[in-house]
Amino acid sequence: MTGVIETHPANRHEKESMADDDLETRSLRAVWHPCTQMKQHEQMPLVALARGEGAWLIDTRGRRLLDGISSWWVNLFGHANPRINAALREQMDTLEHAMLAGFTHAPVVALSERLSARTGGALGHCFYASDGASAVEIALKMSHHAWRNAGRAEKREFVCVRGDYHGETLGALGVTDVPVFRDAYGSLLQAAHVVASPDARQATAGGGGAAAADAARRALADAERLFADRAERIAAIVVEPLVQCATGMAMHDPCYLRALRGLCDRYGVHLIADEIAVGFGRTGTFFACEQAGVWPDFLCLSKGISGGYLPLSVVMTREEIYREFYSDTASKAFLHSHSYTGNPLACRAALATLDIFDEDAVLERNRERSAALAARLRPLRGDPRIEHVRSCGMIHAFDVRSEALGPDASSFARRFFTAALERGVLLRPIGRTVYWMPPYVLTDAECAHLAEATAGALDAVLDGDA
Ligand SMILES: *Cc1c(COP(=O)(O)O)cnc(C)c1O
Repeated sequence: MTGVIETHPANRHEKESMADDDLETRSLRAVWHPCTQMKQHEQMPLVALARGEGAWLIDTRGRRLLDGISSWWVNLFGHANPRINAALREQMDTLEHAMLAGFTHAPVVALSERLSARTGGALGHCFYASDGASAVEIALKMSHHAWRNAGRAEKREFVCVRGDYHGETLGALGVTDVPVFRDAYGSLLQAAHVVASPDARQATAGGGGAAAADAARRALADAERLFADRAERIAAIVVEPLVQCATGMAMHDPCYLRALRGLCDRYGVHLIADEIAVGFGRTGTFFACEQAGVWPDFLCLSKGISGGYLPLSVVMTREEIYREFYSDTASKAFLHSHSYTGNPLACRAALATLDIFDEDAVLERNRERSAALAARLRPLRGDPRIEHVRSCGMIHAFDVRSEALGPDASSFARRFFTAALERGVLLRPIGRTVYWMPPYVLTDAECAHLAEATAGALDAVLDGDA
């Protein structure tokens, strides 16, 4: 059938002329891009990439862009990393994929063991999927199913935190509180309870430790009110530990997570930690929860897990939860699957990523890198256009004051993105929040380039020439 179509002269002609167009034009014709109002590309050019190299993306015109946001928070050790590439090449020649029901393989076993070891064995059972949103779906389903297996089927409600983001599939969107992603689909979703955020920016006078702890206490009181009222119907609360990323890098004090763990234990509610964005060293520790000294009942990981190479996500859970499913009864089993669950290539990329963490003392070196980046943000603290300069590990952010945004406030993020590209950096503000979330391979010179381009883009956009 395809043969007939391809040899038709009219089609052949069309194919050739299409191939003559540049990649951007062909992409706009054939590819529906994610998280994009496609019509905006009438004004805003697409960037066609040719290749990646370390912290850099290189477009088809040879322009070099420093990847200041790790390609949507996934890349850890640079693009085309030689060590991850080598591991993948070897895996490709060994086993590219096989089903994981009834079968297993070395990469998925080793990855599960090593991730579990990173939790000191607290979360000893790993369930795999491909994307972050699927991991959140799995945690929600598993939580309810565990209660159901324990004879508590009425526990079917979920709680999320004001401003939280957990992905875009219907279940994950149901526990997401970012209006721009949620509003069009509200009528399709099972409504979740939304409790107050511990966002330290709400704290008064200059932020600081005491004020952040205060914001955390107020948020906890709100969660406790809800739990006291209806914990018998609530299966789980899902949180983004330490940094609520998609709502604009809202950071909170670890004491929030520690106390929330206590509340969950007291009221019999599962704690789901969505570390899809903040795991794998982003916040300074390997897992964000480590800073609170607690483990959740379900830990969702994705994004950095494969070093930014391949879609892979995992839900890690405790022995007690796993035991609720272990039975002679099929309906008690967790009968969820995705075709690519536990894909060997993705697992192998993840193992190579863990090797780099171990061999290169990444967390230690990131402490210096983070301090160097924070130092470059320091001049902005005195800038009257800026507020809430903040850092957590390898995440650095500041907000442009509403008064400084000018009349065209709604297009700030887009104009800043363009101004940064012109200065050789990929940055993509969220609303009026500008942030850095770079790969863990930045040199001093690259840190300087990032800071200079940020300052330059800010001046250009706020002075109205961009
Ligand atoms: C990105 C993200 C998700 C969704 O992951 P996808 O792979 O994009 O589906 C979920 N939760 C958090 C906290 C995220 O940052």
